[in-house]
Amino acid sequence: MTETLRSWIDGGFVDSSGSHSRALPDPRTNDANATVPDGSHEDVDRAVAAAKAQRGPWRNISAEERAHALHRIADGIRANRKKLMTAERKDTGKLDALLEWEIENSAAYFDFYAAMVHLPVGDVLDTTADEHTFTRREPFGVVGIITPWNLPLNQAARACAPALAAGNTVVLKPAQNSSRTSLLLAEIAVDAGLPAGVLNVLLGSGQQVGSPLVSHRDVAKVAFTGSVPVGQEIGRIAAEKIIPLTLELGGKSANIVFADADLDFAASEAVRAFTTNGGQVCSSGTRLLVDSSIHDEFVAKVSEIASEQKTGESFGPMITRAQYEQVHRYMEIAEKEGAIPVVGGSTVYPPATDSGFYVGPTIYAGVDNSMRIAREEVFGPVLAVIPFADENEAVTIANDSDFGLAAGVWTSDIARALRVSSRLEAGQVFVNTWSTASVITPFGGYKQSGYGREKGIEGLLSYTQLKTIVIKY
Ligand code: NAP
Ligand code: MG
Repeated sequence: MTETLRSWIDGGFVDSSGSHSRALPDPRTNDANATVPDGSHEDVDRAVAAAKAQRGPWRNISAEERAHALHRIADGIRANRKKLMTAERKDTGKLDALLEWEIENSAAYFDFYAAMVHLPVGDVLDTTADEHTFTRREPFGVVGIITPWNLPLNQAARACAPALAAGNTVVLKPAQNSSRTSLLLAEIAVDAGLPAGVLNVLLGSGQQVGSPLVSHRDVAKVAFTGSVPVGQEIGRIAAEKIIPLTLELGGKSANIVFADADLDFAASEAVRAFTTNGGQVCSSGTRLLVDSSIHDEFVAKVSEIASEQKTGESFGPMITRAQYEQVHRYMEIAEKEGAIPVVGGSTVYPPATDSGFYVGPTIYAGVDNSMRIAREEVFGPVLAVIPFADENEAVTIANDSDFGLAAGVWTSDIARALRVSSRLEAGQVFVNTWSTASVITPFGGYKQSGYGREKGIEGLLSYTQLKTIVIKY
């Protein structure tokens, strides 16, 4: 059944004043699913005005009250787990295990930042006997948060919880493809006692409401998660306005396996690293760098494990037909450039589909790091395997990328693990594991994978600005 989705502004659902909308198919079946407005400038003005009206009241309530509200939101997320799962399943076709993780992790952000409301404190910096100088951390006011479609509730919670904890009010613009759980989050928040207008969810396209939100004169900070080209566009607008930005962008993360690693575990983690959520994860390990001395043996292990993965059972579909086609296009590009499909590939998956947008694991061997399959983000379950001769070459290949989001190192030599970790140009390095996700650990990119950090204490502080006060007495 098709639902018509509406923005949540000032504590209730509102119709868009724009005249266009988009029909979204269910990614599992390609059947009609939802209609989402494209939005308009007036929608942006309305959402920002609601958030602006609450700037003073929300920042001036006690930190304890803010903490209580955030804890109640965490409880509300857990209490509405089933509802959130159903909504997210409709948007993305995700499987239950990942949904459960995403929802619990989203609740965890609210609990974590509720416990941190007192943290943005200042310092006393007295320099002379008759002057008292101190710093304080203050909220920006209205924060714009723009999120992608791959882990929408998690990305919304990751940014909204610290922004609210620091005393900001929020206009959240989720991706048109997956806005249901963001809307539910706003409803849950108001039910939990968050005053209307503190958290608003603005529906619409990037063009119609995303970039006008960043441009809006009352939006004082923006947190963006998404692709490099859109991040660049937002960066240009933010530069004009001189407002701070957090950019969480894409990746082409290298997973480096040395011959002395636990190869069985490394192989199963290497598969998890590129197939979780069908590869629709920014920090996917999509370049597998393998010591030449174990190359064939290791590729065989990885291929065997990947071949056991079943689409629709191990992970869900690609989010849209366009994403499905993009993945297929990259398979053709890889094969044209000489990469050898050892699992899956362009002939296994048809170039177009009229049913669900399912693609299975695809592994390319014989990849050179200069090939497009090694340089560009596919955002699907596609792995490029690249051999290396020694440690130096492994690091050189890993760092020869425009991106720098995550990297993996597999070795039983602790000295090598430390040496290689420190040389890798990536915001996250995982040793003998892939991606230990925790709300406490700062997350962000080097190079074109972005700047600023979400999560952890750094995430909270990025939603504050520092003021120095000097008092003469
Ligand atoms: P995207 O196309 O960049 O879109 C991200 C968000 O920006 C969506 O809400 C989109 O709206 C909006 N947008 C599009 N054009 C805009 C514009 N001109 N001005 C303002 N906003 C605009 O990314 P995506 O396709 O949704 O997601 C995939 C990308 O996100 C990948 O590159 C992935 O690596 C990255 N990602 C990064 C992280 C991280 O933490 N580093 C996490 C997850 C994903 P509409 O789509 O509604 O038009
Ligand atoms: Mg996009």
